[in-house]
Amino acid sequence: MARVDLDGNPIKPLTICMIGAGGFIGSHLCEKLMSETPHKVLALDVYNDKIRHLLDPEGLPWNGRIQFHRINIKHDSRLEGLIKMSDLTINLAAICTPADYNTRPLDTIYSNFIDALPVVKYCSENNKRLIHFSTCEVYGKTIGCFLPKDSPLRQDPDYYVLKEDVSPCIFGPIEKQRWSYACAKQLIERLIYAEGAENGLEFTIVRPFNWIGPRMDFIPGIDGPSEGVPRVLACFSNALLRREQLKLVDGGQSQRTFIYIKDAIEAVLLMIENPARANGHIFNVGNPNNEVTVRQLAEMMTEIYVKVSGEPALEVPTVDISSKEFYGEGYDDSDKRIPDMTIINKQLGWNPKTSLWDLLDSTLTYQHRTYAEAIKKTMSKATAS
Ligand code: NAD
Ligand code: UDP
Repeated sequence: MARVDLDGNPIKPLTICMIGAGGFIGSHLCEKLMSETPHKVLALDVYNDKIRHLLDPEGLPWNGRIQFHRINIKHDSRLEGLIKMSDLTINLAAICTPADYNTRPLDTIYSNFIDALPVVKYCSENNKRLIHFSTCEVYGKTIGCFLPKDSPLRQDPDYYVLKEDVSPCIFGPIEKQRWSYACAKQLIERLIYAEGAENGLEFTIVRPFNWIGPRMDFIPGIDGPSEGVPRVLACFSNALLRREQLKLVDGGQSQRTFIYIKDAIEAVLLMIENPARANGHIFNVGNPNNEVTVRQLAEMMTEIYVKVSGEPALEVPTVDISSKEFYGEGYDDSDKRIPDMTIINKQLGWNPKTSLWDLLDSTLTYQHRTYAEAIKKTMSKATAS
């Protein structure tokens, strides 16, 4: 049966230039595009470990529809040619782990702003459509967090729900270098928006709200540096796998809404295949129903990991740590992130499905299956030597 878009029109096979295709989101998007659509992917990245299973030249049903190009977009003259060959460019490339924002602010700003500039320029000059990955961090802090602690207005959604076309972007002072990422992302959003307004660039901007699932980041000492600090899902998974306490930064009081990567990828596919509905829009993509404090997340992951691994929890599973000790000088945090879903709902009819419990259950099952043996081996080696 011919695949049709939301307006009933047949979907033409596309060639997609996907930059950052070897990362967490890219790997899931490539998988989806290969298994459920006829589209071709030119997959650009400096790494391909997370998509290697899709690249095997023989025996895969999508043989030839995905092509890996090992390219660092900072300096590679092949970039423009690949964008020209494609109908659509999706830019996922970024430094996007909070531990880097205050410790490598220059790399963070270059990666999220300067390195994205040629991509925008080539799309604009060659009349190619662009889907650019921004972040929910462009909202920064909520208005509500500046109210007195006992103010009843803190309960009013107008003071915390984040709306694409209404909410301001509220960052901390420059010396809080945490905000280097958010600020670079905000400026590239503004540039893309201006290219749309002044030069007719067809664009869609995606603001992911804590997408999580298998293949996110790395487990330190196993498939990433021992001293590396990934995002919270991998930090907590690592601690559970090693039977260490989960560290709660500044008491784990910050709130997040987590969405299952597979739900979020459905939204991206709708954007890809419904340009008339997605162009010119900025979309929040998150799950407003899955809100927890980081402390609650730690407790839930601990409980689920007991079930998945069959091992009892530590007597005291969590420990508080100051942000200065965990991330170093210049860290700051978003207090609360609830996405408003009105725009994506209206334009694409999309809603997230998976509960936090279910998505943690499948993700921790994956983490256990993938890493438990390797961790045991490295830990027994360490005690033997
Ligand atoms: P990721 O780090 O797993 O993926 C990014 C990929 O880009 C990596 O594979 C990396 O090698 C590649 N890359 C970086 N610089 C490159 C360069 N110069 N040349 C070529 N490739 C380069 O991160 P992710 O979670 O998949 O995030 C993808 C995008 O979504 C990023 O722009 C990020 O800011 C945004 N985002 C993600 C989330 C989330 O919840 N996962 C939240 C907010 C924003
Ligand atoms: N965090 C934590 N312990 C960890 C890692 C992260 O308490 O081991 C906190 C972090 O301070 C933040 C939240 O978890 O409040 C989410 O962090 P993440 O790295 O996933 O990125 P963010 O949502 O801030 O972009």
